[in-house]
Amino acid sequence: MSTKTPSVDAVVVGAGVAGLYAVHTLREHGLTVQGYESAAGVGGTWYHNRYPGSRCDIESIDYSFSFSEELQQEWTWSERFATQPEILAYLEYVADRFDLQRSFQFSTRVESAVYDEVAALWRVRTDDGAETSARFCLFATGCLSATNVPEIPGRDDFAGEAYHTGQWPHEGVDFRGKRVGVIGTGSSGIQSIPLIAEEADHLFVFQRTANYSIPAGNRLFDEETMYRIKADYAERRRQAKQSGGGSPFTPHPKSALEVDESERTRVYDEWWQRGGVLFSKAFPDQLTNLEANDTARVYWERKIREIVRDPALVDKLVPTDHPIGTKRIVTDSGYYETFNRDDVTLVDLRETPIDRITDRGVATTGVHFDLDVIVYATGFDAMTGALHRIDIRGRQGRTLREEWAAGPRTYLGLGVHGFPNLFIVTGPGSPGPLANMVLASEQHLDWITRCITYLDRQGVQTIEPGVDAVDAWVAECNERAAKTLFPSANSWYMGANIPGKPRVFMPFIGGFAVYGQILDDVADAGYKGFVLDGAERSITPTETAAV
Ligand code: FAD
Ligand code: NAP
Repeated sequence: MSTKTPSVDAVVVGAGVAGLYAVHTLREHGLTVQGYESAAGVGGTWYHNRYPGSRCDIESIDYSFSFSEELQQEWTWSERFATQPEILAYLEYVADRFDLQRSFQFSTRVESAVYDEVAALWRVRTDDGAETSARFCLFATGCLSATNVPEIPGRDDFAGEAYHTGQWPHEGVDFRGKRVGVIGTGSSGIQSIPLIAEEADHLFVFQRTANYSIPAGNRLFDEETMYRIKADYAERRRQAKQSGGGSPFTPHPKSALEVDESERTRVYDEWWQRGGVLFSKAFPDQLTNLEANDTARVYWERKIREIVRDPALVDKLVPTDHPIGTKRIVTDSGYYETFNRDDVTLVDLRETPIDRITDRGVATTGVHFDLDVIVYATGFDAMTGALHRIDIRGRQGRTLREEWAAGPRTYLGLGVHGFPNLFIVTGPGSPGPLANMVLASEQHLDWITRCITYLDRQGVQTIEPGVDAVDAWVAECNERAAKTLFPSANSWYMGANIPGKPRVFMPFIGGFAVYGQILDDVADAGYKGFVLDGAERSITPTETAAV
């Protein structure tokens, strides 16, 4: 316990996309690493979310690692938006190819991480009772890994089967001949509903808030398409890294309000074909100007009304409470068509809220629905949940929970004042979930390894953000968000999905490429805003140029 020599240079918590690349790049930079993962294997999101219909909403050729040209040439995606089993197989392949598993201890939860100021070490305790010490502690614990099972009265009385989409049983669920209720119509609900409907005897969709969803336009890749993609991969990645969201597309150069009706429709048609979440990026002002946003909303509504046969039903499926894109647009496969089935019932919880769960099903204020299975597609305590489930203590024993009591406070989404040598990957204050998270993870970890290399070359022991830098970054994130329509939605970006959680827009909204430039500028200026070995050092750019 009193050792001053760390067991390893760095601890990495989590073996998802971010944790895997963290281990790889830290080891490549000569550091010793110990990874911990509470699951029994690698994959993170793609290990846990095995519900029917689970797939990515960013094209797989973009939602994949870019750090190894050999890797991107040898892996072949079968379709535009790969399913969870294929993405998990990819991450397992990456782990094997780069021999990453040996650095992880699986089925092991990190319970606490406490900074020892005297030794300048992190002491990390796991649920097997062991302790490891490390100079650096990296939390790759995921933005969307802490599941939210709402405390609906009577929840535990239900005598049937109950599942959360984010903790899906590995053996799958047999819905045949059963009456199934899905609670929640976010991405997880909307992806799973069409497939559950195909199997179940009857499906009841419990919708509290309607969401915007757009067909994926998914298709299998043929050999020739894949050949072309691979031949041009470097350019595709270059464009993705210069974009606002980490996919190789740029919005129309003009405002949605500057172009005439036919041009607007042409542009929306084009982005509709791209499928799903990207639709919010067709025009540059779609998410900043309500009138511009409304042109997209009207286009969307027309499309959906063409799919659902019952006009009264479609009225309930059209959101009325938030501008399109201010919650992540869902990328679906046959969602709206599902409501044309006789064996699917939409239960509008705005009209008849859930009163309680009983041993036999769900009781709304109107009707009791007898069910054999309840699926909670109720989302996550996003961005801060996984961190707050760990007892993280910095200088003077101050906890991260106290530090963030009014909402997360980071510098660049990477570091926290009072928590030296701690790095968060794709945390609050970074573009994280607004971007392609694979490239966002690479962006962060490349920065972190560059930083650690720099510290070692300069003989610096500790780095942490200065308090002014944190204040300024939090203010900048808030100011940028306030100029957009995002704060008007009750989204998980705002913490609004978790009762009692502070309402703060958590991600950095300025865009993936803009953020990357800020990161580079900070590093080039000798880690401007950070405190190195207890002093805010002024370092000339030439000192860092060699790193
Ligand atoms: P995760 O994959 O969440 O991994 C974190 C890991 O840390 C988990 O395995 C968890 O078990 C582990 N962990 C947490 N706390 C502890 C602890 N205390 N001790 C030990 N281990 C711990 N993003 C996109 O950009 N595009 C998409 O198409 C996309 N699709 C998604 C689909 C679903 C169903 C979900 C839920 C999210 C999706 N996301 C998508 C977001 C997705 O979370 C990220 O893309 C990415 O997978 C996150 O990787 P990560 O390594 O940061 O975190
Ligand atoms: P989510 O977007 O937070 O949706 C949760 C749903 O559950 C909402 O419809 C919510 O309704 C409902 N809900 C929560 N508590 C409820 C309660 N007590 N009673 C009734 N309804 C309740 O969660 P998610 O669908 O898991 O998606 C989260 C994020 O994960 C997505 O935004 C996306 O970033 C990622 N994801 C991506 C994909 C993909 O396509 N690749 C798939 C799944 C997830 P309210 O809106 O009224 O709160």
